[in-house]
Amino acid sequence: MSGFKLAIDGPAGSGKSTISSQIAKKLNWIHIDTGAMYRAVTLKAIELGVDLEDEKAYQFLESVKVHYQANKIYLDDRDVTEDIRSDAVTQNVSLVSSFPYVRQKLVQLQKQAALEGNIVMDGRDIGTVVIPHADVKIFLTATLEERAKRRQKENAQKGKTSQLEKVIKDLSVRDQKDSTRKESPLIMAEDAIIIDTSYLTIEEVVDKIIEVTRKKERNHGD
Ligand code: C5P
Repeated sequence: MSGFKLAIDGPAGSGKSTISSQIAKKLNWIHIDTGAMYRAVTLKAIELGVDLEDEKAYQFLESVKVHYQANKIYLDDRDVTEDIRSDAVTQNVSLVSSFPYVRQKLVQLQKQAALEGNIVMDGRDIGTVVIPHADVKIFLTATLEERAKRRQKENAQKGKTSQLEKVIKDLSVRDQKDSTRKESPLIMAEDAIIIDTSYLTIEEVVDKIIEVTRKKERNHGD
């Protein structure tokens, strides 16, 4: 394994993907959004019309390639970056990502992708399972209400109106499923640095993480 590995975990709406992508841009590192990979598998399963509750239905992963590159997610060569944000995908992704077979397949791809280069990877189990020896592990949190407000704002920017109560309910259902599943649930790594982003701007969080990363890099050089 060569290069610096930065693992960023946290619940839905904590700002992981936006923050990770900006860090990668500023440092000229590679960003991998693992949530997008689980969403792509969910999208494919919905499109194939398989029984989403049946773990065996995901055998299509033996032949379909899921690939994240340069802020875009691909199913084979098809760019599905927009399609994975649909309500149907969001509502089913926690179920799909709870199957050991699906996790094993994607974790294997993620571990491989993390091998070479300076990497920022974000998800739920990056510091605990995918890159347990990451150089820096960050756990982002924010109050449920704040996360829901951000999601509502994102929706509005896409021209979609949503009720705050409904967004709060959807997020808490997803948090509950992601934190209580048997296979690598969302838990904080013991050596992670917690950052509560509720009252911080994206820029402030990005700067804070870059500062921690720089410090660690300097210590490596000593
Ligand atoms: O990050 P995002 O909210 O797009 O992730 C979508 C879903 O994918 C999460 O709710 C979770 O169920 C699953 N996920 C996961 N492990 C990861 C990343 C995402 O189980 N490393």
